[in-house]
Amino acid sequence: MYIVNTCTVTSISDRKSRQMLRRAKQKNKDSILVVVGCYVQVAKAELEKIEEIDILLGNNEKNDILEYVKKFKKEKEIKLTDVMTQKEYLEFGTTTYTEKTRAVIKIQDGCDRFCTYCIIPYARGRVRSRKIDEIINEIKEIAKLNIKEVVLTGIHIASYGKDFADGTKLIDLLEEINKVEGIERIRLRFIRTKNYRRRIFKKAFHFRKSMPSFPSIIAKWMQ
Ligand code: SF4
Repeated sequence: MYIVNTCTVTSISDRKSRQMLRRAKQKNKDSILVVVGCYVQVAKAELEKIEEIDILLGNNEKNDILEYVKKFKKEKEIKLTDVMTQKEYLEFGTTTYTEKTRAVIKIQDGCDRFCTYCIIPYARGRVRSRKIDEIINEIKEIAKLNIKEVVLTGIHIASYGKDFADGTKLIDLLEEINKVEGIERIRLRFIRTKNYRRRIFKKAFHFRKSMPSFPSIIAKWMQ
């Protein structure tokens, strides 16, 4: 079985996704080829025509890949729901990615900004924030593995909490992570808004002064 998790942020990534899935099937004609992700979400009609694909799944269906493979009956299977109608963060239940000393934690999905020329909101849907409890539980497990650094990631993490009715914001999440024993460093990925960076730094700095044990918050901005 091959799973190709596609990207659609540029036409180059579309092309690479197509090349990758064709290459996979060439390697093993008897394999089940599953194609998932953002490219599927925005270009279903185009991908439907590619013979090599056995199972085509949208972003909301990623959690159930194994179920689709188990019931696969040699006929092309297509399952795609409109991500725009998805109101809640879909819990994957595990750490996105861990390295020896740090773990990458996904805290939200989607974006509401609809910048000109950006396809991401159409592929990933509206802002859906992961519940603080779920994030903290995962980070506690990570801390038990002696991992001291967490990298918070998402599509637009400055929007974290925007979809919560109780006014929870990214700074509240940082405050909770700060309390997790064993975690010494928090990195923020994908915050591109300068004003927001300034605001969050100011608040985090205030924490550090009032709570000497506050771990260093390091923001690494990916361009
Ligand atoms: S904020 Fe980023 S992800 Fe959202 S629409 Fe703009 S460029 Fe795309």
